[in-house]
Amino acid sequence: MRHSFLSIARNALSGHSGWPRAWRDPPLQPAYDAIVVGAGGHGLSTAYHLARDHGMRRVAVLEKGWLGGGNTARNTVTIRANYLREPSMRFYAEGIRMWEGLSRELGYNVMYSQRGQVDLVQTWAKLRDVRRRQASLRLLGVPFEILSPAEAKARVPLLELDAQARMPVLAATWHPTAGVARHDAVAWGYARAADAMGVDIVQDCEVTSIRRAGGGVAGVETARGFVAAPRVALCVSAHAGVLAATAGFRLPIETVPLQAFVSEPLKPVLDTIVNIPHLATYFSQSDKGELVIGGGADGYPSYAARGSFHVVEDAIGAMLSLFPALRRVRMLRQWAGSIDLCHDITPILSPSPVEGLHLSVGWGSGGFKAIPIGGKALAHLVATGAPHPLAGHLLLSRFARGRPLFETAGASNRL
Ligand SMILES: Cc1cc2nc3c(=O)[nH]c(=O)nc-3n(C[C@H](O)[C@H](O)[C@H](O)COP(=O)(O)OP(=O)(O)OC[C@H]3O[C@@H](n4cnc5c(N)ncnc54)[C@H](O)[C@@H]3O)c2cc1C
Repeated sequence: MRHSFLSIARNALSGHSGWPRAWRDPPLQPAYDAIVVGAGGHGLSTAYHLARDHGMRRVAVLEKGWLGGGNTARNTVTIRANYLREPSMRFYAEGIRMWEGLSRELGYNVMYSQRGQVDLVQTWAKLRDVRRRQASLRLLGVPFEILSPAEAKARVPLLELDAQARMPVLAATWHPTAGVARHDAVAWGYARAADAMGVDIVQDCEVTSIRRAGGGVAGVETARGFVAAPRVALCVSAHAGVLAATAGFRLPIETVPLQAFVSEPLKPVLDTIVNIPHLATYFSQSDKGELVIGGGADGYPSYAARGSFHVVEDAIGAMLSLFPALRRVRMLRQWAGSIDLCHDITPILSPSPVEGLHLSVGWGSGGFKAIPIGGKALAHLVATGAPHPLAGHLLLSRFARGRPLFETAGASNRL
């Protein structure tokens, strides 16, 4: 619904009592045609595409907390397609295409800003890797250039080039179609659009186990009782292993904390995303002016949504070694999410060993960017039973076949 200036003023003066709800608060039904577990970006996008692309109306999204409150709320919102493997490139390039039209499609401003990404290259091995990536990305028409250190500085004037540094900048890459979006707005936009098509989004409804009937799924046990459905999609990020265990199988994922921090707001100093892969840190500047900074994953499995001090110290120290002008900036807050890291750093978007139970897990530190294409591809799988044409490489069966897809551009310090 659009609001005129007058209606906004009237609501402000009336104590905000006249706003319509952005989505319903529906009662839980005893049965649905499909249940999506988890109202993060992937769950909401999947439900939206089930309704929009496949005409399914009796769809529920069951969320144990509040919608968009998981990793979708905790991420640093980098969206990019500069991957190494051909199937990954195709998948994420289509993802970017979808981001470009997302605000219009959802009728909701997700604040998508295509500001480009500079990656600093500090070893000769990495330079060889990015040259290989450039050649492959060129074949698919994904823009990705290699810059000299001086060209990198021209793009990011705050960068300090010191040839005597322990790890001098040898080169950089420029990926102009990378960008950022507002994480809450993405969850809210999908929730509102799915709700408008009749999808029930039921919050405060934890799924405690998967119920099987023979070789297939019968439904889910929840904190509010059993709900039947012949098709269930798990979009619960780090909790997928827990629910998979209740259905009788294991997943090749590990749950580890991943941290991020924001600084006090600054005047505009940075109009692109900067990634320093060797030093496991990256940052961009939000529309509010804060520097949004990410570090590497903590080195131990944990469900604790808090991080450890040495990661903060490493990430900030690394950033200051190349951007010393930021040394007086004060940190505002720090947080962590629990990420679902797949053993080959490639996600799983796949049927499971239980018929009718489908999986969207293992997005690790890079699933925000995949919300539009991931939801579309999972909805295709749930509705048709066949993998989406762009997601055939993400099947769980790759592990049993000994064909993991190691994706070094998957942003993890584990490889
Ligand atoms: C610090 C940090 C930085 C990141 N930076 C980036 C980045 O720059 N770019 C990028 O692309 N990605 C990034 N990511 C990764 C990204 O956030 C995730 O991959 C993405 O949000 C995953 O979305 P999701 O919908 O699968 O999971 P989530 O958003 O975590 O949603 C899962 C939902 O499932 C619910 N749930 C769990 N268990 C149950 C249950 N039993 N019953 C019902 N509901 C349940 C949870 O409450 C949650 O709401 C980052 C992550 C972190 C932590």
